[in-house]
Amino acid sequence: MDDDMQDFTADVRRFLDAHAAKAPDRTAFTWGEGDDSMAYFSSLPPEEDREHVQRARDWQRVRYENGFGWITGPEEYGGRGLTPIHDVVYDAIEAEYDVPDTGTISVVGLGMIGPTILAHAQPHLKDRWLPAMYRGDAIACQLFSEPGAGSDLASVTTRAVRDGDEWVLDGQKVWTSVAQHSQIGLALTRTNPEAPKHRGITAFLVPMDAPGVEVRPLRQMTGGADFNEVFLTGVRIPDDHRLGEVDGGWTVALTTLMNERATVGSEGAGPVGAALSPDRLAALMRATWTGEDRALRARLAELLVDVMATGYLNARATRALRSGVTPGPERSVSKLMYGQNLTRAAHFASDVLGPRMIADTGEWGTYAWSELLLATPALRILGGTEEIMKNILAERVLGLPKEARS
Ligand SMILES: Cc1cc2nc3c(=O)[nH]c(=O)nc-3n(C[C@H](O)[C@H](O)[C@H](O)COP(=O)(O)OP(=O)(O)OC[C@H]3O[C@@H](n4cnc5c(N)ncnc54)[C@H](O)[C@@H]3O)c2cc1C
Repeated sequence: MDDDMQDFTADVRRFLDAHAAKAPDRTAFTWGEGDDSMAYFSSLPPEEDREHVQRARDWQRVRYENGFGWITGPEEYGGRGLTPIHDVVYDAIEAEYDVPDTGTISVVGLGMIGPTILAHAQPHLKDRWLPAMYRGDAIACQLFSEPGAGSDLASVTTRAVRDGDEWVLDGQKVWTSVAQHSQIGLALTRTNPEAPKHRGITAFLVPMDAPGVEVRPLRQMTGGADFNEVFLTGVRIPDDHRLGEVDGGWTVALTTLMNERATVGSEGAGPVGAALSPDRLAALMRATWTGEDRALRARLAELLVDVMATGYLNARATRALRSGVTPGPERSVSKLMYGQNLTRAAHFASDVLGPRMIADTGEWGTYAWSELLLATPALRILGGTEEIMKNILAERVLGLPKEARS
């Protein structure tokens, strides 16, 4: 480790020691002790959900005020001007501490929308929103997907029509994570229906309290409502809230999507990560007297080999970052493996536990698996579906012939 990184690491530890307690080790644990949660989505009642978000905001402010709110960001917007590897190092050290989960703020807003605003927004929007977002005061959502536009995002039909210095937006977005907590949303709209579909899109930053914006939460089978439908009806947005050129929104969208690919699949710690702990899975077999079942043992071994392989793949991406190379389409493998490993772990637990997973009887480490199992279909879809990831791998990593496109 070079001197700069040694200083940074010491700085991070000093900060965390002063503001947080050490976390219990979630991978080496004793069966029946501690928190058994493995929920991917929160299923908190609204009041508790708001408190959860407030804790996230408060922790983000502490990070920001101590120089860790936006490690890679430019100093003029409150960033630290350091490299992505400093970010990785910070995350790895912070995972050793018991700090509030900031996913509501960071996954979409700071991970995807912030970098897009930085790259494409007009200066007054950067001044207004970037420090506010990275200080935890403002949350941002991604208004991309629509009922008829998901994998084929360039098919968006939400219209934006120019009216003097303003645009009038009409349409519907769907699957919008954290919209119910957001102050701003980045919307893709159709501004030129005559142009080829990638060339008739414009991006806008939409204040979520603007008249005509209606957020309707969607209840999931896990119990919570993490994402929403967002209806835009005659929403008037000033032209200075446009990102990029008129009809040049596809370039803006690519910045967001590139950052999305880098974010999804790199999550490994926390409650969900505990589902892939070899200790925990082996303890599950012992606790259910299935340890001698050869077929289950073989399945567990196969899963753990894949978990290790995914870990090595992520370590390789980190090493590449360290040497200044941004990982490319091969990141799709991490995203695929992340979803598949968690799905296989949840199915494995379901075969081991059988009916004990169905009802919450209070028995430790049983029903907790169903919270993960019910979330696994979403892992195959969010951040690009499995099929789309496989297309990317086939075409851009393996060099196979391209899929026919209209
Ligand atoms: C938990 C979660 C959170 C999300 N959060 C957000 C958010 O905050 N903001 C946002 O804008 N969106 C969000 N999304 C939406 C997500 O990006 C889309 O669901 C995703 O892109 C797929 O689009 P779709 O649902 O319209 O499915 P479709 O694109 O209609 O796909 C349907 C099926 O067809 C397959 N398919 C489609 N095209 C091809 C192809 N070319 N080759 C092979 N198979 C294909 C797909 O793999 C899939 O199985 C979220 C989704 C989830 C699950």
